[in-house]
Amino acid sequence: MVKTLDIDFMGQPGVIASCLIEGPDGLALVDPGPTTGLDGLRAALGAVGHALEEVEAVLVTHIHLDHSGGVGVMVRSNPRLQVYVHERGAPHVIDPSKLVSSATRLYGEHMDRLWGEIPPVPAANVHPLTGGEVLRIAGTNVRVAYTPGHASHHVSYFDTSSGTAFVGDTGGIRIGAPLLVVPPTPPPDIDLDAWDASLDLIRAWNPQRVFLTHFGGFEQPLEHLADLQERLHQAASDVRALLADQSLDNEQRLARFVDRMVRTFRERLPDEGWVQRYQLAVPLDHCWHGLARYWSKKGPKGPASGSARPRPAQGGS
Ligand SMILES: [Zn+2]
Repeated sequence: MVKTLDIDFMGQPGVIASCLIEGPDGLALVDPGPTTGLDGLRAALGAVGHALEEVEAVLVTHIHLDHSGGVGVMVRSNPRLQVYVHERGAPHVIDPSKLVSSATRLYGEHMDRLWGEIPPVPAANVHPLTGGEVLRIAGTNVRVAYTPGHASHHVSYFDTSSGTAFVGDTGGIRIGAPLLVVPPTPPPDIDLDAWDASLDLIRAWNPQRVFLTHFGGFEQPLEHLADLQERLHQAASDVRALLADQSLDNEQRLARFVDRMVRTFRERLPDEGWVQRYQLAVPLDHCWHGLARYWSKKGPKGPASGSARPRPAQGGS
């Protein structure tokens, strides 16, 4: 059984969801969220009859702070908690100093207000993953796939008993019922080919639903993933065209990109509250910078050969 937990990020419902896996043999959380959301996480767990200290395992999709910034504080108060994370992310969970400095470049003075404390997790609690594993978590089988594209250290999980694929940000951002799946594309790791291949791996699980951190579970996963893929490639080609427009400077290019995205939000979403939720989950200037960086790495002829190694440490979305 899986349950959506709204951590009420920054007092806003519907922005960051953790997921509780209630197995026959215990409890696990997928992406518990940042330290600033732990009170909200406790409250959401309490509402379904559980305490945070009962949780035995945390499955991290990736180490961006909105997904897993709170694990250090959680392990400190519950030292038996086991943390699963891709092998490229694991060193930055054990020593978050590079992660914090990279995230500070994106979030600046807002770091503490948004994410709170980010203490290290003892290496003994951390289980590095490569993809391809089948984990036994809370008495249920969970498959792991390496799903980069959004982040070079992103994994997705498939709970075989509920048919739920936990796809983190590789599965996009969709808040509320409309089919509007926005690709979160912050710097520095965006890779369209890798992202396409990751979506194929998720489809190959044949899931009944996808579970997104932003926000919650959606049935008809094929329709969902197709919408994401189309919007990802559209956003990338928009950015490429804007970069090629010599009549604009970078500030104007960014402004046009953001305007187009906001216009799409306003066309498709019921009111301004929803427009703001999407932007809290995915700052649009970050989306621009990630895609602009992607094209600058690729160069005019295609993928850069070897030189554009993804860097593991980064901040949010
Ligand atoms: Zn995110």
